Amino acid sequence: MIKVAKFGGSSVATAEQFKKVRNIVRADPDRRFVVVSAAGKRFADDNKITDLLLLVNAHIAYHVDCTQLLKDIEQRFVQIAEDLELTYPIAEKFEEFSSLVGSLSPEYIVSRGEWFTARLMAEYLDMPFLDAADAVVFRHDGSVDMERTATQVKDALQRLGSFVMPGFYGSTVDGTIKLFKRGGGDISGAVLARCLDAHIYENWTDVSGFLSADPRIVDNPRTIHRITFDEMRELSYMGATVLQEEAIFPVREVGIPIQIKNTNNPDSQGTIIRETAEDNEREHLITGIAGRKDFLAVHISKAHMSNRIGIVREALAVFERYGVSVEHIPTGVDSFGVVVNGADVADKIYLIVNDLQQALDPDSVTVIDKLALISVVGRNMSRRPGTSGRVFGALGEAGINIRMITQSSQEISIILGVNNEDFDRAINVVYSAFVAEEMVDMPKEEE
Ligand code: ADP
Ligand code: ASP
Ligand code: MG
Repeated sequence: MIKVAKFGGSSVATAEQFKKVRNIVRADPDRRFVVVSAAGKRFADDNKITDLLLLVNAHIAYHVDCTQLLKDIEQRFVQIAEDLELTYPIAEKFEEFSSLVGSLSPEYIVSRGEWFTARLMAEYLDMPFLDAADAVVFRHDGSVDMERTATQVKDALQRLGSFVMPGFYGSTVDGTIKLFKRGGGDISGAVLARCLDAHIYENWTDVSGFLSADPRIVDNPRTIHRITFDEMRELSYMGATVLQEEAIFPVREVGIPIQIKNTNNPDSQGTIIRETAEDNEREHLITGIAGRKDFLAVHISKAHMSNRIGIVREALAVFERYGVSVEHIPTGVDSFGVVVNGADVADKIYLIVNDLQQALDPDSVTVIDKLALISVVGRNMSRRPGTSGRVFGALGEAGINIRMITQSSQEISIILGVNNEDFDRAINVVYSAFVAEEMVDMPKEEE
C-alpha cells in the first residue's frame, strides 16, 4: 500500500508538532512519502513563515532593510532544530540564503519556507529529502506538467525508496522556481499521490476532519465523515478552506480518495473524500454549509426577455471586456443576475452598468452590493423535495432577507445571497434548522 501524507503548517510549527508527525509516520509503514508545508502558526496570533517571507519580498521591493526579519525567521527554524537535537547546520544554511536574498526571485524566497521545514523534517524522520524543484514540473502557463512530474517522481521512488518533499512549489524545465496559490501544499500532496499511484492521500491538519460549517462561525460543528468530491469542491470554493480548492483534481481523475486527519488527535476518524459516498436511509440531508462575503450582483430585467436569444451572452461579454470573472448567473423568466466578486468591479461598476444599458436596452439594471453568498451543500437534497423551501422558511422566520437564490446544476447545492451583515447569523440559522436538528434524531456517529 502507498500512502502520501501531507502535513500542513500548524502540524510542523514547533518541535512538539514534529514529534506528533513522527509518531504518525512511524505508526504506519505505508506512510513513506511525506509532504510538508512551511512551519505555520504556533499560537493564534503568531505569523506563518510563508507570510514572513512574503514580508521579506515586500521589504526588498521597497528597499527597506530586512536583516532583523530574516533573523526572526532563522530563529524559528533554529529553535526547532535545537529542540530536536538535529545536526543539519540550519543557522549556517539559512544565513547563506539570507545573504543572497537581494539577488533571488520572490517566488524562490517564499519557497524556502517549505524547503527548510522539509530539510529538518527529513532528518528528524530519518528519510531522504526530495527537492520539489526536482520533482514537480510547472509549464510556463503555471499548470503542472503531470507526465514530466510522474517521470521524475518515479525516478525518485526508485532511487530513494521513501522521501520527504516540501510542498507549495516546483520548477519549470529551465529551473525557475514557481509557487502554487496560497494553501497549495495541498496540491503538491495531491500531485505526488497521483504520480505514485497512491492508494490514499492523507491530509493532516489541525481539525478532526471536514466540518459541516466553519468553526469560527458555528460552535462545535459536526464532523462530516464521508463527503463526495463534488460536495467538497462546492464547499471549499465557497470558503471552507481546509483543503485548497484545486487540490482534488489530480487525485479525483484517477480515483484516489483523500482523507483529512487531525495531527493533534490522530485517532479520530477524520473525513474521507471520494467520488461517491455510501447512501443509507439515515444519511444526512445537508452535508455542509460554507460561504463568502463581499459579492456584488447586477440584476437585469427586460419584458419578453425569454424570447431574446443571446441576451445573457451579450451581458457576459460586457463583463469579459472588463476582465471580470463571473461567479453565478441566477435566471428568472424576464430577468437574470450576474454575480461577481465585489473587489473585482470596485472601480468600474458604473462603466459596466452603462455598457450593459447600451448593449441590452433593458427595462432596469439594479446593483446589489455587500452581498454574502452561502452555499448549502448536500448530495441527498435532489432526492428529497422541499429542502429549499425549508431553508427559506428557516431564514424567513429568523427575519433574514434573502436577496438572491440559485441552485447548482446537479442539484447538490442551493446558493443564497444575503446581506453581508446577516452572514454569520444566516449560517447559524441554516445549521440549526438542519444539521443540529438531525443530530438530535440520529444516533451519534463514532469519533
Ligand atoms: P493547514 O495549515 O494544515 O494546511 P489550514 O489552515 O489550511 O490548515 O486548514 C485548516 C483550517 O480550516 C481549520 O483550522 C479551520 O479553522 C478552517 N476551516 C474553515 N472551514 C472549515 C470547515 N468547514 N471544516 C474544517 N475546517 C475549516
Ligand atoms: N505555506 C503555504 C501557505 O501558507 C502553502 C501551504 O501552507 O499549503 O499558503
Ligand atoms: Mg492549508
